[in-house]
Amino acid sequence: MPYEKSRELFIQARQYMPGGVNSPVRAFKAVGRDPLFIARGEGALIFDEDGNEYIDYVGSWGPLILGHRHPEIIAALRTCLEIGTSFGAPTRLEIELARAIVEALPGVEMVRLVNSGTEATMSALRLARAYTGRNKIVKFEGCYHGHADFLLIKAGSGATTLGVPSSPGVPPNAAADTIVVPYNNLNALESIFTRHGHEIAAVIVEPVAGNMGVVPPVKGFLEGLREITQHYGALLIFDEVITGFRLSYGGAQELYKIDPDLTCLGKIIGGGLPVGAYGGKKHIMEKVAPEGPVYQAGTLSGNPLAVSAGLATLKVLKRPGTYEELERKSALLYQGMAEAAREAGLTLSFNRVGSMLCIFFTETPVVDYTTACTADTRRFAAFFQSMLEQGIYLAPSQFEAVFVSLAHTDEQIQKTVEAARKAFAAIKYT
Ligand SMILES: *Cc1c(COP(=O)(O)O)cnc(C)c1O
Repeated sequence: MPYEKSRELFIQARQYMPGGVNSPVRAFKAVGRDPLFIARGEGALIFDEDGNEYIDYVGSWGPLILGHRHPEIIAALRTCLEIGTSFGAPTRLEIELARAIVEALPGVEMVRLVNSGTEATMSALRLARAYTGRNKIVKFEGCYHGHADFLLIKAGSGATTLGVPSSPGVPPNAAADTIVVPYNNLNALESIFTRHGHEIAAVIVEPVAGNMGVVPPVKGFLEGLREITQHYGALLIFDEVITGFRLSYGGAQELYKIDPDLTCLGKIIGGGLPVGAYGGKKHIMEKVAPEGPVYQAGTLSGNPLAVSAGLATLKVLKRPGTYEELERKSALLYQGMAEAAREAGLTLSFNRVGSMLCIFFTETPVVDYTTACTADTRRFAAFFQSMLEQGIYLAPSQFEAVFVSLAHTDEQIQKTVEAARKAFAAIKYT
């Protein structure tokens, strides 16, 4: 397969943008090759600048649950172009999207639209701190909540650690109030609350972790979070930027029947345009300006194009049978891949919740960041490379999800499984 044009473009891109990209994972560094420059997409397919065709399992890192260029999203965007792209004033469309979110998510009674998931989590935590009058927050090791200073904290290995910034430029002070606990570990969380319970404003969690591969919550974990936070008067924040409208129309909170105080959204609710949102209980959300004193603003927040694309997406997802169909396709892919691995004599650790799945190149069951790190990333890179050469576009990292969309056909899934069969056989001895 020729990759010349992508190669040339990457050389140009590196002159003008750090690392040639506008978001680090796009550079393919974790798999040791140059990125592809994408020219266009259609349904579950993408085409690179050299004219190579791929079945896409990245889906723009989660938003494209309907695939590329869904006709109803395109139509909504066209309609929007007729009226204008931004007013910085209230529009009818915003009410519709806010209402759709409130009706869908059990924990959301009121919502504020923003421009990214990062903005959503950062603003939700400001609100939680203001509401509780406390400063400390708890996050879980391996969970990603955007790149705000106080959330960009990686824990050391082993047991519970106090926050250490995972990027230069984050002042130690910004990290000092962030406590990091291993995912799926209620004992560690309890011991933190025993010591700091009355200083903790909120616990923020990905209800299904999607940024260390895919790691489902163990039985009782989310229930435990709800109980402990309630007991100490801390807020529970579900970061459903990935899981919202993906795991069910009501997100992970509907699937696992947990009622969080605040919820962060992004990705799917923008239908492929930049968006985010945070929402929750009315008595908390009423503290947000201008109703309340907690300041948060955005020139392009509630942007008509983004809101139109999001609304069109939710309208399609709300139709009967969509999540059953998504589950059927995802199960087909999962079973096919798992069988292909077995046939190749490989024991790998597969995790799947609905249309989020991950093949960990380890025999250890993956339940948290430490076990995720037992994965052999060199083997993953070889698998990735073989899949790419066979026209299958996976996320270029072991620690990302495979996203199935409604646009994937059974035939494309079958083709993916066949490619995986060859890829597994080829890497067996690496
Ligand atoms: C992607 C993501 C974010 C950040 O959203 P951006 O729109 O990239 O800022 C936050 N939380 C989770 C769980 C995410 O997956």
